[in-house]
Amino acid sequence: MKRTHHCNQLRAEDVGQKVALAGWVHGRRDHGGIVFIDLRDREGLTQIVFDPQHNQPSWERAQGLRSEFVVAVEGVVRRRPAGTDNPKLPTGQIEVLAHTLEVLNASDTPPFPIDDAGGQAGEDLRLQYRYLDLRRPPMARNLILRHKIAKAVRDYFDTHRFLEVETPILFKSTPEGAREYLVPSRVNPGKFYALPQSPQQFKQMLMVAGVERYFQIAKCFRDEDLRADRQPEFTQIDVEMSFVTREDVLTMMEGLVAHVWQAARGETLALPFPRLAYREAMERFGSDKPDTRFGMELVDVTEDFQASAFKVFRSAVDAGGVVKAINAKGLAAATQGQIEQLTETAKSFGAKGLAYIKVEGGEWKSPIVKFFSDAEKAALVSKLNIAEGDLILFGADQREAVWEVLGRLRLVVADILTRTGKLSIPNDQWNFLWVIDFPLLEYRPEEGKYYARQHPFTAALPEDEHLLETDPLKVRGSQYDLVLNGQELAGGSIRIHRPDAQKKMFEKVLQIPPEVAKARFGYMLEAFRYGAPPHGGIAFGFDRLVATLCGTNNIRDVIAFPKTAKAFDLMTDSPSEVEPKQLRDLHIQLNLES
Ligand code: ASP
Repeated sequence: MKRTHHCNQLRAEDVGQKVALAGWVHGRRDHGGIVFIDLRDREGLTQIVFDPQHNQPSWERAQGLRSEFVVAVEGVVRRRPAGTDNPKLPTGQIEVLAHTLEVLNASDTPPFPIDDAGGQAGEDLRLQYRYLDLRRPPMARNLILRHKIAKAVRDYFDTHRFLEVETPILFKSTPEGAREYLVPSRVNPGKFYALPQSPQQFKQMLMVAGVERYFQIAKCFRDEDLRADRQPEFTQIDVEMSFVTREDVLTMMEGLVAHVWQAARGETLALPFPRLAYREAMERFGSDKPDTRFGMELVDVTEDFQASAFKVFRSAVDAGGVVKAINAKGLAAATQGQIEQLTETAKSFGAKGLAYIKVEGGEWKSPIVKFFSDAEKAALVSKLNIAEGDLILFGADQREAVWEVLGRLRLVVADILTRTGKLSIPNDQWNFLWVIDFPLLEYRPEEGKYYARQHPFTAALPEDEHLLETDPLKVRGSQYDLVLNGQELAGGSIRIHRPDAQKKMFEKVLQIPPEVAKARFGYMLEAFRYGAPPHGGIAFGFDRLVATLCGTNNIRDVIAFPKTAKAFDLMTDSPSEVEPKQLRDLHIQLNLES
């Protein structure tokens, strides 16, 4: 037996015990002829003492220990001498006086320190030596918490009679979503599988199959250009339930989130979570995933500027648009650089410029106020609660464009105010929010077609169904998103379950030619003809959820072996070239010119 305890286990009560520990040399210090090492394993650190008076051969061997050597030690637990306790370590009251030392393996000098400071090393280096990065205590903690969260998820669903069912990784290409990873089939020349973007179709088939309550901690794949918080392969908590209304799904998921928060953080969440209709979220926050930990809401002043002498506002209103504003309290002292940054943000989201007012020294400093009437100014003061030190930012355009621009500005401003200490947004405040009543469809003018905003299996709200063919953009879908502090944590919907309704969605609303619909979804339409129960579900981004609970913004910190922004695995050097024979077997010829 190489060990009796792990390295975060021994306490003052264990003094006098004979123990065996094993792990990595975290650090070594030589004090007046006595050698101390911090021995580290996944759980923590224990101080080991090698004293020549006590055991000469072990002490001699300890002289040769270097960082990350792997050792096994036997010894006796003793109280640390008075005044040498380390209150930062749970094992900080004791040490182990070593009788024996066995060196199980040596180690080269690691390319970065295996501790908190190692996190400052370049991320590419950490990814290349991921096995060393994962030894660092903060990373080991993340892996442990990820495991605990996954277990809590499974326990919760098990209690509520869900079955975890695995669905295939080799799936069928469904090109209407994100770009997919294709896998050539050797035994079916010229044919391809695709890796699933989500198990959506399989989980719906499981409902037709009578599974009733399904979940899976599922791997999903999307071949997208990666943004900071995206990975080409990622994990979802995927859920589907039969015989449910939206209410049933939301309540069951609130229970899940509460259970997970309790398990991971020992915190009790207040249920139910508030709800906001999509339209209201956009009007008030300019976002369908609003961070509600701070106000700075969008205020509508359209009616006050209907007859304005300021042409920019007036013409927006005349064109059927809106004028809205946010009050960045405390930002009147914004530097020219910051105003330029805000203007650039506005422009990058489609605004032509940025109208603003600085309220400083009792004056409104702005190139535009000379065009404002007294009534217009009075309306602004009261609706925006204007006071000394404020910076007012305007958006005047079509409604959706103003939502977008002011929604983004609200976040940039909050960031500036936070960095300058004028706004405090607590990291451990959990503003959960259901956003509901999304529009079912969007129109893409360049293609002259409607697209499903979520996916083509989402049902319309029953009260809007009659508008599907006459006024499609007015139709609200049964989609729901769970938002936490400005991030989308989960999304789902009640599905279409009648074959005629699904066929109509594909062919009439989304204008997918019948033969294409049949080739892609024929099996689904057929399955629905054999008694598909009403059903609905949801999927949580598991990596994001774990990152939030671990207190990191970077999902790569909670994924054991993540890829870079170029979808590269730096540790295994993948993707990589393959042998010509492998390609021939797959009936594939490369054309790297194009
Ligand atoms: N499959 C959907 C997604 O991956 C979620 C759902 O509707 O359940 O976003």
